[in-house]
Amino acid sequence: MSVFSHPEFDHHEIVAFHHDRKSGLKAIVAVHNTHLGQGLGGCRMYPYATEGAAVTDVLRLSRGMTYKAALAGLKQGGGKSVIIGDPRTEKTPEMMRAMGRFVETLSGQYVIAEDSGTNVADIHLMAEHTRHVGGLADAAATAEGRTGDPSPATALGVFYGIQAAVRFKLGRDDLKGLRVAIQGVGNVGFRLAGHLHAAGAELWVTDSYAPAVERCVATYGAHAVAMDRICSLDVDVFAPCALGAILDDLSIPQLKARIVAGAANNQLAERRHGGMLLERGILYAPDYVINAGGIIDIYYEGANYHWPTVDAHLRQIGATLGRVFERADEDGQPTGVIADRMAEEIFAG
Ligand code: NAD
Repeated sequence: MSVFSHPEFDHHEIVAFHHDRKSGLKAIVAVHNTHLGQGLGGCRMYPYATEGAAVTDVLRLSRGMTYKAALAGLKQGGGKSVIIGDPRTEKTPEMMRAMGRFVETLSGQYVIAEDSGTNVADIHLMAEHTRHVGGLADAAATAEGRTGDPSPATALGVFYGIQAAVRFKLGRDDLKGLRVAIQGVGNVGFRLAGHLHAAGAELWVTDSYAPAVERCVATYGAHAVAMDRICSLDVDVFAPCALGAILDDLSIPQLKARIVAGAANNQLAERRHGGMLLERGILYAPDYVINAGGIIDIYYEGANYHWPTVDAHLRQIGATLGRVFERADEDGQPTGVIADRMAEEIFAG
């Protein structure tokens, strides 16, 4: 298997493989770019069908983290790690400790945090062997109500992003009566629903897990919608907060919303779908820009954690999106293309 000639290879600085025989750990760390700082990114544990699929994922995701950190205004680079295995059946504390030792060998060039398949408890086990961890609750942060879970900050950042999109596209500053459809009301989507509800928006929600929908209906008076109807509702904003690749040849022609702005990663099935949204006059908030609240929160953790500072930074997500929208409009380009260009201008120095 080649790495340097891999289609997803993009001048990554480090791609390190590690096997720990005792715990059975098979892991890969990729650090894409450390021009702005250490490569920060989550650790994904997933039963990849092939090693090639794991390499593809870690190369793609670590590159994405460089762009995300740069546009979020963080002095941080991009990295990511993957553990090959099923987190439900194969994960052990010893494996997590072995992952910590692996991260330590990289001398701080990579900072590990949670991602799908890993959680705060896993990061604590890794932290027994390395200082280079993020996303942990610590004394100062806990005193301010922080648990180490990035979802609340992500949800608030998405809310500020929706405000910016509404200002740009609909020319209004308040969200009263704004109609928003949320796909997926889990950790982020449910909290986003709370912010939108408090701002006077009317909500339509769906989720593959029925109790999640019921909670949203009971708490925020949301309208429950069948999963296959959420994309085609006559609403102002469609907020994907469940899975990636949701914007494709099938869903985009169905959209009635004038804005797509949500937390899900990799919302465009293919890059060209950004162009399709533009052609349809739909404003798309690039996913990695609007969902950066979690890494912003992690960036500030530690003894000096101070919520007003974090909140001020989260609000910058709205300001950055405003600049992306304006430049995309001036250049007649998809917002995702402009966001990438702006990130490259920052991290390339
Ligand atoms: P989550 O697992 O808590 O919530 C996702 C919800 O979507 C779940 O309730 C799930 O039942 C539902 N779902 C799954 N498939 C669905 C489908 N086909 N239709 C409707 N609902 C479906 O995850 P989360 O932490 O809320 O993250 C949501 C999205 O945001 C993910 O794409 C994640 O990668 C992205 N994201 C999360 C964070 C964070 O801080 N948690 C940060 C950045 C990006």
